[in-house]
Amino acid sequence: MFLLLTLFSCALGLNPMKIAIISGYGSLSPDMQFELQNSLKWFQSAFLVEKSQNPVEIQDIYAKIPEYQKFTSVLVQTPTHRVNMKLHSENMKNLLNLADFLVFIVQQNPEKCSRDPDLLAEALPIVLVADNRPPLAVMSICLQNSPRPRNSGFFFDLFRHEILHGLGYGLIIDKSKLTEKKSEKYIWHGANNQKIPSIRHFLDFDELSLKAAKIHFNCQNMAGVQADGELKNHLNEYIFGNELMTTHLEPHGNVFSWISVGIIERTFNGEKQWYHINGTFISTEANQYSYGKKFGCEFLENSCEDFLKIAEKHKIGLKLAPFCRKSLCYKLPGNAQIFKFTDKNCENRRVIGDNQKWCPMAKNLPLNYEISPCLPVG
Ligand SMILES: [Zn+2]
Repeated sequence: MFLLLTLFSCALGLNPMKIAIISGYGSLSPDMQFELQNSLKWFQSAFLVEKSQNPVEIQDIYAKIPEYQKFTSVLVQTPTHRVNMKLHSENMKNLLNLADFLVFIVQQNPEKCSRDPDLLAEALPIVLVADNRPPLAVMSICLQNSPRPRNSGFFFDLFRHEILHGLGYGLIIDKSKLTEKKSEKYIWHGANNQKIPSIRHFLDFDELSLKAAKIHFNCQNMAGVQADGELKNHLNEYIFGNELMTTHLEPHGNVFSWISVGIIERTFNGEKQWYHINGTFISTEANQYSYGKKFGCEFLENSCEDFLKIAEKHKIGLKLAPFCRKSLCYKLPGNAQIFKFTDKNCENRRVIGDNQKWCPMAKNLPLNYEISPCLPVG
């Protein structure tokens, strides 16, 4: 009780989001539990919310997450503490009253995990009162699918990604349809004149995000924030690369950018904004996002093959990572020497999540190489 009150002090207006994870299945492995706790600290620092007018009751939990009917005691992880708690207790009542957002760990279906080896975890928001911020989410984890090797920060990114879904990122639909964008058909030009009919989908709630994305890509005509498929759950992998909210997490570092800040801040139905992001806290990370920076509309609207042809003519000096082109040369900042892309440092790779599309990607190069004319030959 004392613990909770000191953790979660109350005030009117916007306050750091009080978040906790509840598990009837005990603790995760020590490294995962540690990163889960770190992700909670991150959410508490990054998210500001208003106190909900509709407190959650234990009966809501039993109704929406029936598997919790079988537990008498659960593990509660807050940003700073880990405690066991009885579900029917004053402490739990207080927790439900004080917390802004609770994520319940639920059992994953092992068959689903083995069917999709890329599935690491899944989270879904639970809205209790229409047009109000979801106070609850469920999250399941496919322990058997966790990738190796990985760095310790991988689970930090995985939990941030999933809890963002739990808050509604890519999973809540704009009921007003005000931010819904029509999908666009286009042709992806591959190597050897291959033409692949394709469709661009755009995320809902892109009003704020699109402004940030236009600046990032340097494309004022950008039509919308491209989604990864018609479900519109994620940012498009090809366009947004190592952004935290693309479908596929990079093993080494994913960035929560201003583009995602814009999506989650605009993710709400009803009159009032649900989430406010602490820009000062987030800026160190968000400003690091450099994937596709200044690539222009040519990148957003064309295949990599077409984009690289244009870049070759008009974008000398552009930092081209992760792409490369064998007819081009590159140099590294602060070094006058010019190098040629060769088979050794430039290879064709499949676009993640799309079996038909391939792009030439750099291999074993530092990411700050710039395109350079090939003459004089170095
Ligand atoms: Zn996801």
